[in-house]
Amino acid sequence: GLRSRAAFKLLQLDEKFGLLKRGQRIVDLGAAPGGWTQVAVDKSKSDQGGTGQVVGLDLLEMEPVPGATTFQMDFTTDEAPARLKSLLNGPADIVMSDMAANTTGHTQTDHLRIMGLAEMAYQFATEVLAPGGHFICKLFQGGAERELLARMKQDFASVRHAKPAASRQDSSETYLVAMGFRGATPPQA
Ligand code: SAM
Repeated sequence: GLRSRAAFKLLQLDEKFGLLKRGQRIVDLGAAPGGWTQVAVDKSKSDQGGTGQVVGLDLLEMEPVPGATTFQMDFTTDEAPARLKSLLNGPADIVMSDMAANTTGHTQTDHLRIMGLAEMAYQFATEVLAPGGHFICKLFQGGAERELLARMKQDFASVRHAKPAASRQDSSETYLVAMGFRGATPPQA
C-alpha cells in the first residue's frame, strides 16, 4: 500500500499533467515517509529492471523504498545537492519537492523559509534537469514569488499552479508544475 496520503496528490498531479513515465530519472526532495517515492518507482521502473532511477532525501529518517535510493540529510546544506548529483547516473527527467519546513507560527518567517526551500529546489532543478524535464514543487499562500515565477516561465515551456483534490481544502498548500525545461542557461557574463 501507499505510505502517505500525500502519494495521492502526486498521482492526481500526474493524472492531470501526464508527468511520470517509464525509464525516467526522478529526484524526490522531502521524501519521507515515502509515498511520492513509491509512486515514482512504480511509474518509472519496469518490472524487467533496466532504466529508471529514483533518488530522494529527507531531514527525517525513512524506511527504504525498494527500487529507490534515499538518504537522510537537510537539503539546505551544501553537501545535500552534491550527494544527490553524485547518486544520479545521468540528467534528471523530474525534480519534485514536497518539502515543507516546520512552521514557527510567525507568518512572515514561515513564508520566507518556505520560499527559501522552493528557490533552492528550483536552483537544483535547473542544474540537474535534462531538456524537456519537469519541476514539481509544493508552495503555500497562493503561489510563487513573482520573481521566481518569471524565471520559471523563461526556463520552462509551461508553468501551472494546481491544487490536487487530495490536498486539504482549508490548507493554503498548492503545487507548481513546470514542464518542458528549455535547458541550462549559461551564467551571465
Ligand atoms: N512526499 C512525501 C510523501 O509522499 O510521503 C511527504 C513529504 S512531507 C509533506 C514534507 C517533508 O519535507 C517532511 O518529511 C520534512 O522532513 C521534509 N523537509 C522539510 N525541510 C526539509 C529540508 N530542509 N531538507 C530535507 N527535507 C525536508
